[in-house]
Amino acid sequence: MKVIDKINAKIDKNETFYSFEYFPPKTTAGVTNLYSRIDAMAQMDPLFCDMTWGAGGSTDKLTLEISANVQKFSGLEMVMHLTCTNMSRGSIKNALDAAKDAGIQNILALRGDPPRGMAEFKECEGGFSYAVDLVKFIRKEFGDYFCIAVAGYPEGHPDSKNLEQDLIHLKEKVVAGADLIVSQLFYDTSIFIEFVKRCRAIGITCPILPGIMPIQSYMGFTRMSSMCCKSIPSEIHEALAPIKDNDEAVKDYGVQLGIKMCKELLDAGVPGLHMYTLNLERSTRLILEGLDLISPARRELPWRPSTMLKKRQA
Ligand code: FAD
Repeated sequence: MKVIDKINAKIDKNETFYSFEYFPPKTTAGVTNLYSRIDAMAQMDPLFCDMTWGAGGSTDKLTLEISANVQKFSGLEMVMHLTCTNMSRGSIKNALDAAKDAGIQNILALRGDPPRGMAEFKECEGGFSYAVDLVKFIRKEFGDYFCIAVAGYPEGHPDSKNLEQDLIHLKEKVVAGADLIVSQLFYDTSIFIEFVKRCRAIGITCPILPGIMPIQSYMGFTRMSSMCCKSIPSEIHEALAPIKDNDEAVKDYGVQLGIKMCKELLDAGVPGLHMYTLNLERSTRLILEGLDLISPARRELPWRPSTMLKKRQA
């Protein structure tokens, strides 16, 4: 099923929803663990899950394989990420055909970052320069079969001259056929709220989901935030400074901050929350419980072994 239909149904009923992003692990054991984790987290009833496409196309087969297995065996609706980095039109078409054959109906269409060793993004031979070209290609080749999500940047994409230019390009992706925008992570909720207002002001009407990355470790936070966010509220730095060497305290703070940020976003009218899980359960679960979004009945469900793994092996 297309996730945009599920999202619109939730919006019509005024019901808050959430979705979980995962990435393909590097080892076979990691993949097995991920299937179990996705199964366990399915008990929280996410509206959909998505699987990233490794930088430079490094995980193409694994992204397809995990997305296909989750779609077939877990009962969850999958969104598969797909980037243009190192991908010719032919290989993009093959990946989309494979996704379609596996019953996947949702693609997060991305340009991707420059291949390793290159400072600027340059399309590969026979490939695409921008995500908008990929959106157009999907619509041309597959009509309305796929729901297409695209990336949005509340602080502007690092390559863009300014937010205004970036928003113009974001609108081009929607005009080309995208149904949904998922945002880059951020830690200043006022920036996301302003971003949505500016999108609406230029005529972008599709749902825009905030990307929430709970702080799980101080090192991870400094690495990700330096790559993806320009503006971190000073109170976050002040809160982390005295506890940065205490992993448990950092995680607990990350949960409290996540709850506070999500409350502010829900109060401002966002329809749902997109959780960057980093393949971990605890912080995402505690944030959603802290927001009272997981019903008590679901909280008490006993842990069950991975049904997805068993079905996959059968
Ligand atoms: P685009 O929308 O093409 O934008 C890239 C830059 O080009 C922007 O500065 C934009 O303003 C500019 N631009 C766009 N169109 C034009 C035009 N016609 N003329 C001139 N300039 C233009 N990366 C991965 O490798 N794998 C993933 O799975 C992945 N998942 C992501 C999920 C989300 C929700 C987000 C926010 C990012 C994700 N990324 C992922 C990172 C992403 O690939 C990078 O941020 C990449 O640099 C840009 O991709 P894009 O699709 O936003 O590009």
